[in-house]
Amino acid sequence: MDNVIELKSKVEKRLKFYGLRPTKARLRIGMMFLDKPKHLSADQVYEKLIEKGHSISKATVYNTLNAFAERGLLNQVAIDPAKTYYDSSTNAHHHFFNIDTGQLFDIPSEQLNIESIPQLPQDTKIQDLEIVIKVKNK
Ligand SMILES: [Zn+2]
Repeated sequence: MDNVIELKSKVEKRLKFYGLRPTKARLRIGMMFLDKPKHLSADQVYEKLIEKGHSISKATVYNTLNAFAERGLLNQVAIDPAKTYYDSSTNAHHHFFNIDTGQLFDIPSEQLNIESIPQLPQDTKIQDLEIVIKVKNK
């Protein structure tokens, strides 16, 4: 019980830090992400909340996650245009994506070396470099 209260106040502080009012939905979704590092899609967040018996609309889940990503509280990882995951680790890092299970895993940065980068298009610079390695079950 203490842990839940601690987590709630941690999330509250985090929301304030990022300039977000601590609404009920933001607190709930924030608590889902900030207890430990994790990757969830909007649909997974929605399903987990419904499973726990919370009544929330899909639109609220999407809006909340978008607000979190806009402010930098969560990282967005776009697997393809139809599938975006939200990541509680906001530093730049790489991922494995299992197309069979839909799970996203972190790749420890020391395990991936990028030796050469193609010449960038004219008048551009690198914003960030995140690699997704797609895998499937054998
Ligand atoms: Zn990650």
